[in-house]
Amino acid sequence: MAHPIQRFQSRWQTLPIRVRGALIIAIPVTCLFTALVAFVWLKARLVQDKTRVQHTQVVRFETKRLLNALLDAETGVRGYQLTQRDEFLVPYDDAQTVVPESLAQLEELVQDEPQQAARVEEIRVMVDDILEVFQQKIASQGELERIQQQANTTVPAASIYSWLEEGEATMNAARLEIDRFAEIEEVLLEQHRQRQDFYSQITWIMLCVSAVVGSLGALLAAHLFHQLERELSHRETNLRETNQRLEVVCEQLQRFTANASHELRAPLAAVLSNAQVGLMNLEDMEESPTLLRKKLEKIVGLTKQMSALVSELLFLARHDGLLASDTLQTVVLNTLLSNLFSDWLPQARSHHLLLTTHLPNAAVMVSADAGLLRQAIANLLSNACRYTPAGGAIQLRLLVAAKQANIQVQDTGIGIPSEALPHIFERFYRVDSKRSKSSGGFGLGLAIVQQIVQAHNGDINVTSVVGQGTTFKITLPLSNR
Ligand code: ADP
Repeated sequence: MAHPIQRFQSRWQTLPIRVRGALIIAIPVTCLFTALVAFVWLKARLVQDKTRVQHTQVVRFETKRLLNALLDAETGVRGYQLTQRDEFLVPYDDAQTVVPESLAQLEELVQDEPQQAARVEEIRVMVDDILEVFQQKIASQGELERIQQQANTTVPAASIYSWLEEGEATMNAARLEIDRFAEIEEVLLEQHRQRQDFYSQITWIMLCVSAVVGSLGALLAAHLFHQLERELSHRETNLRETNQRLEVVCEQLQRFTANASHELRAPLAAVLSNAQVGLMNLEDMEESPTLLRKKLEKIVGLTKQMSALVSELLFLARHDGLLASDTLQTVVLNTLLSNLFSDWLPQARSHHLLLTTHLPNAAVMVSADAGLLRQAIANLLSNACRYTPAGGAIQLRLLVAAKQANIQVQDTGIGIPSEALPHIFERFYRVDSKRSKSSGGFGLGLAIVQQIVQAHNGDINVTSVVGQGTTFKITLPLSNR
């Protein structure tokens, strides 16, 4: 099983470059965006913290103001009760304005916190009670004086004190409630801070993680870009090579077309001239029909030549590249060569050539298209017959070496000059055009042989010495069936 990284790499390679580029850019951009959001959040939190602290300070200040106003009022009322002097009522009068103000301020400050708002409401009730008691005490001060004058006695100290103490319990309860309210406000501030601390820790972690991931992402992006660049340059090289190959193929095609037209032009011109001469003979009835026959025979011969050329061209065009496996069959080369030998024996004899064969006893098998293989070897035998003067010898051999079948066609003919050897497999190449023309070749026979051999995944080479003879060797992989 492939390693996950390798799997990722192969998946990555299959993605279009557009997608890869977008992903590469997305990594650092996402990290940057996350870091930015975290930073903004932190900044906002700092502002929120400050506001919260200020809020608590204001609440504390208002509670103190409220409490102080009440205490001052209480002390003032007591003083007034004991001394009946009006200046002692000043704090009480102040409390009349300060207390409602403070309560309203507190109500507004805690309107977002229902529990604290309920507490302010309770405080308000208590404070109203206290103020009510103060009010009653001040109002009943005259009454006390009247009682003292009527009775001409002094009210016992104990009863004055108990009267003075009246409302103190409510006052204490209110003080406790106000203290409690302030404490809870502190607790709320602390809870808020703890919550904010927790979030800020998370934000810092996010910030650190995105910084690390962002840096890694940037490194990865740089690496991936580098990879992408390498791939692009690789593709460019491939494209350039393909272009060059295409140019070569184009040039070959052009040469091939030019050669083919050239080869066809000469016989066509000959056909035309023969036909024209024949026509003239027809008009001139005095001429013997023998001449006419000759011209027509010439036309037939030339047309046959052209037809052969067109067949060879078609052959080259059709059988390009490796053969499909379903067209291949197991061919016993011993049989194929033995049949070819029998077929070519009469022709060799007619050229006064000695054709011999050397085949192994054991069957040599290859995977091949029998018809094509037969054609290739027949071309070599045809060349051997054409380029070997009378009295010469041709040998057809079959050998097996290194898991390969080796077919050899050897002749004692005129040979091929060494400078021509690299070109003889090229289309339309002829060592000596006059010589070949006389023997009827177009320079396509060996190109066809090479194409057939290569289509069978084989190889062909030639050795030759001028005046001594030529040997063509075809190597084919043995069939493993
Ligand atoms: P052609 O049809 O003209 O023979 P080929 O492609 O078969 O074309 O051969 C190319 C050239 O190679 C020929 O023109 C010929 O000069 C040379 N040649 C091929 N086979 C032999 C051979 N057995 N002996 C000498 N020359 C040969």
